[in-house]
Amino acid sequence: MTRMSDVVAETPAGKPIEIRPMKAFPHIKDLVTDVSWNYDVAQRIAPINGPETMDWEFNQMEADRVQHFRECIECFLCVNTCHVLRDHEMFDEFAGPRNLVRLAQYEMHPLDTEDRVPEIKKEFGIEYCNITRCCTEVCPAGIQITDDAIIQLKERVVDRYYDPLQRIWRTITRQNVRY
Ligand code: SF4
Ligand code: SF4
Repeated sequence: MTRMSDVVAETPAGKPIEIRPMKAFPHIKDLVTDVSWNYDVAQRIAPINGPETMDWEFNQMEADRVQHFRECIECFLCVNTCHVLRDHEMFDEFAGPRNLVRLAQYEMHPLDTEDRVPEIKKEFGIEYCNITRCCTEVCPAGIQITDDAIIQLKERVVDRYYDPLQRIWRTITRQNVRY
């Protein structure tokens, strides 16, 4: 999102301008880094499990809510900026903001019936995100990663694991959910 002409205008004459590759990923060459970790994580996310019949109907607002997430261009700047990965290198414990957007896109799909909440908590480590919003600030697609995706997923985890009233209600209504 940064124009070189702006950088040149702000840089004192004679001072070099440095352009570096993303820091969070293994360096391959020049500005190229190996971002395959993101795709490996994506493959572990359960796909949308929709109805088999084709008479789909849902509210336009529900469609708009997930359409926003599909604007991701997979630049991975959000992942590169996230301190959980960039500084603490928790690649085994945390799925990163791009894949949390993917999880939100699937979880909030109006026709999806898959339950990914236990994986969001344990395997994808959403609790490591402390909502700094750094990822949202750098997203060139303007996706509100923290507010629209991550916080929504965190609320689902809280409802499932930490809300006693929800737990009582599930017991009364005999809802079987995974933990
Ligand atoms: S809001 Fe969460 S995912 Fe985004 S940069 Fe901060 S810690 Fe990382
Ligand atoms: S910064 Fe935005 S566009 Fe880039 S990978 Fe992250 S969510 Fe997608």
